Amino acid sequence: MFFYDMINIRKIGGKSMKKIEIMGLPFDNVTLREAVSLSFEFINLGKQALAVTPNAEITELCLEKGEVKSAVLSAEIVLPDGEGVLWAAKKLGTPLKEKVAGVDFGFECARRAAEEGKSIFLLGGKEGVAEKASEKLISLFPGLKITGTQSGYFSREGEENTTVIKRINESRADILFVCLGAPAQEIWAANNRTSLSAPKLIACLGGSIDVYAGNAKRAPKAFIKMRAEWLWRIIREPKRIIRAAALPKFIISVYKYKRKIKKTRNIK
Ligand code: UDP
Repeated sequence: MFFYDMINIRKIGGKSMKKIEIMGLPFDNVTLREAVSLSFEFINLGKQALAVTPNAEITELCLEKGEVKSAVLSAEIVLPDGEGVLWAAKKLGTPLKEKVAGVDFGFECARRAAEEGKSIFLLGGKEGVAEKASEKLISLFPGLKITGTQSGYFSREGEENTTVIKRINESRADILFVCLGAPAQEIWAANNRTSLSAPKLIACLGGSIDVYAGNAKRAPKAFIKMRAEWLWRIIREPKRIIRAAALPKFIISVYKYKRKIKKTRNIK
């Protein structure tokens, strides 16, 4: 039986939502608004959820690296962060509603946290970035409780790791933003989630922390409209071209995958 046949149905605000399998990953077919509602359902129920936002590059990495795939598969919430994933979904005959960028998701979670009195711990970025992000988010969402910050350059093993986890738990934050870069952040979150007893939502948000801090800019509206946010990131950071090289590989993988599942799904 294909994983596709096992897509689970869950309810958000009385509506049935289903997961859609794209390239072996169970994406949530939700809008940004629904993604935030789903996350806060977990928080309000006191159940822990890991949220990840794979783009084409990470989806391709999941095909190649078991450790990354296991981490993504252990997440309760999987949001499509990128045009590549949306394109693949369409090609495979299971279109997704919309792109849910990690940066928007984190931003809207912060807005909702301020409204509902929930607290956030910011983990990641270079020295001082999380503090700056904290100040900016609080000024945007008055009343937002940020109960702790921590730079993302620490040893992911042993005593240092234990100390970081202890600080997060002692802060009693309801939400943890993990911004250590992909796929390291997904692996770290999946490996450490059982020790992270305080946060009920653990959201892996990559470079979003630099955007919240005001150190990195979101693409101009024209790029977003043309669905070329990825191009903007390459122009700003040319070294990203190496990572963008995963894209042609991803396209080939999608076509191969399509051939494989054609018999199971009714696609042209
Ligand atoms: N980062 C970190 N610790 C590390 C490596 C990276 O905190 O060991 C931070 C980095 O400073 C940046 C964020 O992770 O703020 C995301 O980096 P990048 O833009 O490369 O990742 P992406 O958003 O593409 O996953």
